[in-house]
Amino acid sequence: MSLYRETSAANAGTACICDLRSDTVTRPDPAMRAAMAEAEVGDDVYGEDPTVTRLEAMLAQQLGKEAGVFFPTGTQSNLAALMAHCGRGDEIIVGDRYHIYCYEAAGASVLAGISLCPVPVGADCAVGAEDVAAAIKADDQHYAKSRLLCLENTVNGQAIPSAVIKTAADVARDRCLAVHLDGARLFNATAALGDEATEFAALVDSVSVCLSKGLGAPAGSVLVGSGELVSRARRHRKILGGSMRQSGILAAAGLYALRHNVPALLDDHGRAARLGKALSVMWPGAVYQATNMVFFTPLPEEHVALIDHMAANGVRIGSQLPTIRMVLHRDVSDGLLDHTIAAFQDFYERI
Ligand SMILES: *Cc1c(COP(=O)(O)O)cnc(C)c1O
Repeated sequence: MSLYRETSAANAGTACICDLRSDTVTRPDPAMRAAMAEAEVGDDVYGEDPTVTRLEAMLAQQLGKEAGVFFPTGTQSNLAALMAHCGRGDEIIVGDRYHIYCYEAAGASVLAGISLCPVPVGADCAVGAEDVAAAIKADDQHYAKSRLLCLENTVNGQAIPSAVIKTAADVARDRCLAVHLDGARLFNATAALGDEATEFAALVDSVSVCLSKGLGAPAGSVLVGSGELVSRARRHRKILGGSMRQSGILAAAGLYALRHNVPALLDDHGRAARLGKALSVMWPGAVYQATNMVFFTPLPEEHVALIDHMAANGVRIGSQLPTIRMVLHRDVSDGLLDHTIAAFQDFYERI
């Protein structure tokens, strides 16, 4: 079964009016498209695209790091970061539910000869300091070299406070490991917790941030870190085929998103809370809501019928068996949320 389960053929022709599968489905609005159209561009491989350079500098500054580098995707940004931190035969320690371990097709192993050592993730979605300490291997010819700890925030929507990130990061740093933070949705975490982005960045050596999730840009991630680390990652971006030319068109969307779309992330969290509350009235089991995401596990025999019912009402919901995931984002208005809740009510009243 694919991670992206499609609805049944019966509903294939129904127009989708509300797509809750992910916040990656956001489309650039007219103002963002205007910023893209007007972007000043050059050849970024020559270092001559002023818009890309501006975006890289802006995120580096916002996170308190020396430098940044723009990537087409978050997966490539993470991979280039791992390659900048590690050599072949080195090992990363990573939460066993984190994107780098679960959803990046083991690229670090396939392309960079890096071994992945998973450690358990707790109910708070954080990795524990003791588990990290236990996973760090002794310097012995039999073992891979433990080189890097990979953390994530948010994880399945769960925002992890900087104090919690610090306990794991400190253990790694005390043992001379570097620390990378996959902050694909870092601004959802900072919005939810009220912590500053710099607080998280100060605890780690590198951070990758996605512009193409709730921030609404069509593509792009930025990796920030020291000047030296970022220039190594830039070389790896070239190796991975991610160095683009007039990519200021895309970077302009990212700059626009950082300037205009960050505060509205809290509206997504509010709508997720409303959806979670409405569902917990209809559905007797657990409903889990964190930042912009809502999860619940319907009865196995109702799973397909529910997805099809929602699709027939123009609402697409994410389904990785046995759980339903819904992600609120800037293309879901209050009106579309009302419509979604009504479609759920209709389903649960009928059965
Ligand atoms: C989306 C995401 C990424 C990167 O995904 P791309 O689709 O390659 O941009 C990395 N980590 C996390 C936690 C994500 O949610």
